[in-house]
Amino acid sequence: MTVACPLCTPVAADLLWQDALCRVVWVDEPAYPGFCRVIVHAHIKEMTDLPECDRHRLMAVVFAAEVAVREVCRPDKINLASLGNLVPHLHWHVIPRWQTDRCFPDAIWAAARQDGAVPALMALRPRLSAVLARLLAG
Ligand SMILES: [Zn+2]
Repeated sequence: MTVACPLCTPVAADLLWQDALCRVVWVDEPAYPGFCRVIVHAHIKEMTDLPECDRHRLMAVVFAAEVAVREVCRPDKINLASLGNLVPHLHWHVIPRWQTDRCFPDAIWAAARQDGAVPALMALRPRLSAVLARLLAG
């Protein structure tokens, strides 16, 4: 049985930044505005399947995404997660968290604890793209 991997096909509309190794994409999740995902282009399962230089580059991109989300969204906390149990194509979630969000302090995939309220943030995509371009230039 062959199941198409959803992360092997980039969705152009969601793209915030990319290079030869990976891309940063917008995650359309209104409960967590600014949620980004860093996805390696190649269908690779684990961090240690990457050559060492690519591991470091990927983490540099994850950290740049963290800085961008902090700068643009001013969350109370950032959650970084690499799971891939359902989609075994290497990717990192960069998730802004607020003490008032629906699952706080649990993981966002847990059952909601409250209705949830997050700041209304404007023009997030262009602002995140601009910060990523600045941090990852050259
Ligand atoms: Zn894939």
